[in-house]
Amino acid sequence: MRYEVNMRFPTVGEIATTSVVTIKRDNTLLEAIEIMCEQGHRNVVVDDSGVFFILRINDFLDTKIREQGLDISLHNVELAQLPVMNKNETILDTMECLSCNIEYICVVNDDKTLYGIVTHTDITSSIDPDTLMNNFCLHDFLKLGRRARWIEQDLSTKEVLDEMRNSASDSVIIVEDKKPIGIFTTKDIMRIIRKNSNLDLPIKAHMSSPVESMSIGGSVKEALEFLKQKHFKRVVVVDEMGNMAGVVTQKELISLTYSKWAIFMKEHQEELNLINETLISKNKKIEQLASRDPLTNLYNRYKFSQLFDSLYETMSQNSSKMSLILIDIDYFKKINDTYGHNVGDEVLVQISELIRRLLRESDVVGRWGGEEFVVLLPLANLENALNIADQIRGLIEGQTAHPFKITASFGVTEVKESDDLKSVIDRADTALYEAKESGRNRIKAR
Ligand code: GH3
Ligand code: MG
Ligand code: MG
Repeated sequence: MRYEVNMRFPTVGEIATTSVVTIKRDNTLLEAIEIMCEQGHRNVVVDDSGVFFILRINDFLDTKIREQGLDISLHNVELAQLPVMNKNETILDTMECLSCNIEYICVVNDDKTLYGIVTHTDITSSIDPDTLMNNFCLHDFLKLGRRARWIEQDLSTKEVLDEMRNSASDSVIIVEDKKPIGIFTTKDIMRIIRKNSNLDLPIKAHMSSPVESMSIGGSVKEALEFLKQKHFKRVVVVDEMGNMAGVVTQKELISLTYSKWAIFMKEHQEELNLINETLISKNKKIEQLASRDPLTNLYNRYKFSQLFDSLYETMSQNSSKMSLILIDIDYFKKINDTYGHNVGDEVLVQISELIRRLLRESDVVGRWGGEEFVVLLPLANLENALNIADQIRGLIEGQTAHPFKITASFGVTEVKESDDLKSVIDRADTALYEAKESGRNRIKAR
């Protein structure tokens, strides 16, 4: 079975706002403001024969516009042209547009008519965190409209506290000639209260200084690393001149980077789980194939050798005993010749089950060759092993599943400190040969 995961980046069409107010450029400013008021939008897309511009409420604050009055045609108003993207392009294609100054991108249908608009915030909150963190710099981030507070150094501590209360901010940056020279946070407020400090002193007396800052050209990724390394909650951003450019909090960075992505991953969690389960069961199957004999489902030689090595190590560490039994079915060729190969196979399966049932979970049983089995008995001395071998011998001899008698011969040996698997098998094989030579259906030890 194949599982297909439809994990892909959203298209700009999918994240676009489609309820956009548009107006033709031939209209007047007054008509624009009327439609904006009517629809409750703070901006309107101006369609100039398929080229799109944006008119924002802020543009009305422009003195030139205020002087001219609202009756002028939009052709006479300087407007920002919007970048255009097809609605099927993915958000990864928006990276280029993000570096421009306008916060909006027009999303168009195949026939170039307007489909909707997306904002930088829409995009950044929908993009793969890693891509975003690498490609998005603090400059872009500050453009998203976050207002940070910074104040002059000669303000009194009391005034700063009032300012913080009024603006509900948990920190202010103190500047001197536009350069950040200190930071004052809620932590400092606690300190001041405890020490009962004089609040009439300038803030400079109570701020933490110097303040470490990052350049506006740094990436979001670098900013997150910076915060993590310094255990800071916010990063002070300065421009090329070292002048204060803004403050970005860790919370803002993280929420911007992960918000939509977390939803996206959650939506696909079920598919991911399914894939995981499939992979795990496939792995199990592969391991099974690589370690088991397909006919009897006993360990194959390769897996048996591995298990021997690890048990041998345990044995050496604990100075415990361990024994091995080699089992060979007597006159098996005759069974094949008389009853057919399939019956021979059945006998092999039956005997392997019989051995398995008699032994403990911790004992290791393998198919060593055609009609040869090998049993490793941890914690068993030679006497224990001989005992177990005789029980197996009795069970095989006494089996009634087939109308003919089946017997087996056994070579038993105790594993010594100086052994490896080969030397153990050699000894067991010699014992087995002696069992065959002395009449079969018996056990010999070495
Ligand atoms: P002995 O008592 O001396 O062990 O005689 P034997 O006939 O058991 O020994 P021999 O080694 O001569 O023959 C083993 C036979 O086991 C030959 C081979 O065709 C058969 N054999 C090996 N693997 C399989 C198998 O997977 N299925 C079946 N049905 N027969 C197998
Ligand atoms: Mg044999
Ligand atoms: Mg045999």
